[in-house]
Amino acid sequence: METVTLLCRGVKLVLPIKEIESFTDQAWFLKLLVQYEDDGKPIELCEDINIVLSIIETLKYHKLILYNSISLEHMYMLCDKWCVPEWILEEITSRIESYSKTETEKIKNEKIYKCSVCYTGYKHSENTSTSCKRHLYSMDTHANIFACCNNQEPCINGYHIGKG
Ligand SMILES: [Zn+2]
Ligand SMILES: [Zn+2]
Repeated sequence: METVTLLCRGVKLVLPIKEIESFTDQAWFLKLLVQYEDDGKPIELCEDINIVLSIIETLKYHKLILYNSISLEHMYMLCDKWCVPEWILEEITSRIESYSKTETEKIKNEKIYKCSVCYTGYKHSENTSTSCKRHLYSMDTHANIFACCNNQEPCINGYHIGKG
């Protein structure tokens, strides 16, 4: 069986040439590559192995398959560059859209906690080191001033602190 050896940033990937040719009728990058580079030497791709494998498996099973921890945007760019069939680009686009929709939904539906320092409602995802504006000391009700700074404006920032 004739094979081609690809090097993805130094990681070796050996594939049967027949298999690469059988994925699609379309003239995409790897298919053209094995047609023209037939000296049997390893071919350096300088691409992430997980993205290359994702593209190969996707073509093999006619279904979008994503390897661990790959970036969809990165995969899209490589698919575009490699001229893979259009349906793969469409699948990736709709996957990116549905992911960002879930993320927005998640933030929208997030529980609101009440800060025990400033008594403002806040969401965990939006709580930063400058969210909670407060005074170091509580108000001296008798003198109606904040003993820490003598100002009405809060003098320190920090994270909101929830109960429990
Ligand atoms: Zn103060
Ligand atoms: Zn607060």
